[in-house]
Amino acid sequence: MQFVDLKKQYELIRVSVTNKMTSVLERCSFIMGPEIEELEQKLAKYVGVKHCITCTSGTDALVLPLMAQGIGPGDAVLTTPFTFFATAEVISFVGATPIFVDIDPETFNIDTEKLKKTINDYRRGKSPAPGIPAGLNLKAIIPVDLFGLPADYDALNAIAKENGLIMIEDAAQSFGASCKGRKAGSLSEIAATSFFPAKPLGCYGDGGAVFTNDDTIAEVIRSLRIHGKGKDQYDNVRIGINGRFDTLQAAVLLAKMEIFDDELKKRQIVARKYTDQINSAVKTPRIPEGYLSAWAQYSVRSAKREEIMRRLKEQQIPTMIYYPKPLHLLKAFENLGYAVNSMPVSEAISKDIFSLPMHPYLDDVDQQKIIDSINQIK
Ligand SMILES: *Cc1c(COP(=O)(O)O)cnc(C)c1O
Repeated sequence: MQFVDLKKQYELIRVSVTNKMTSVLERCSFIMGPEIEELEQKLAKYVGVKHCITCTSGTDALVLPLMAQGIGPGDAVLTTPFTFFATAEVISFVGATPIFVDIDPETFNIDTEKLKKTINDYRRGKSPAPGIPAGLNLKAIIPVDLFGLPADYDALNAIAKENGLIMIEDAAQSFGASCKGRKAGSLSEIAATSFFPAKPLGCYGDGGAVFTNDDTIAEVIRSLRIHGKGKDQYDNVRIGINGRFDTLQAAVLLAKMEIFDDELKKRQIVARKYTDQINSAVKTPRIPEGYLSAWAQYSVRSAKREEIMRRLKEQQIPTMIYYPKPLHLLKAFENLGYAVNSMPVSEAISKDIFSLPMHPYLDDVDQQKIIDSINQIK
């Protein structure tokens, strides 16, 4: 059994992927071929925003908006410690300082009340950790739609507006999700997603995209993505990166877009079955009213995590822990000086959470085997 079964998906789209990749190969249009623009238009329309700018990875899709906003040394960006490393890595990468805000225990997304408090405390001179100096400019918030569930953007956008902060939605795990009819990627002024193979919409390598309705931000990001190009790539007007998405990977995504909505429906069915059948054995995820998760992960909590994972492993059922260590306790962020117990919710959850196999092609037989194994544990 696979944790994410990309092979079953490939069998389904083999002809379409092969045809689309072959036409790139025959044209030799590997860099910025016509598939890139075709894909960007399709993705922008799907998400419901004016601009989609594809790029090398989800990580670069976060770096580019930070660069476009001129965020760097002397600035601070607020984010969650319960996410993949890249979310906060990009903040330090551009020279700014991450400030962590603990998560809501029900949604695993940034706690908006704690966010307000952290902002107010910092503005009054109270530093959140010994390594974070007073007087940095609070510039932006990067909320994460963890495991595919959008964060609370009504509250977040209001906090951002009130405090003059830029919002960058980390939608790396939530492509396809929605909140009150609006798609992830459109829930704040800028969003970043990832096409890493195991994400809800994954290609066959690395990839990512930025989404925005803002014409100016889009234009700057298009320039930054190609070495800060001006009129053409030899007229460089700013310092950028080599951030282009591969045309072959765009061809893969064009094929996958054809089945994406069907996959999203299948993920809902798998998630519902888990929730209906294992909720008395483990704490299952709760999706708030009006939200649709993209189910990048189906994560549950249990005090018997190690025992359950061991039993599942004995039956060749793979599980993963997202995330074993909150970011504020990682060595890479040691310089910030966050202490153990400074983010109690993230720390508690990292000790009892784990994720079950989740993909659109998980069949009834395999899923029943997982469910039965979990329910056997007393
Ligand atoms: C995967 C992921 C990223 C980084 O995406 P890459 O394409 O791997 O660079 C960023 N943030 C979150 C929350 C992710 O899950």
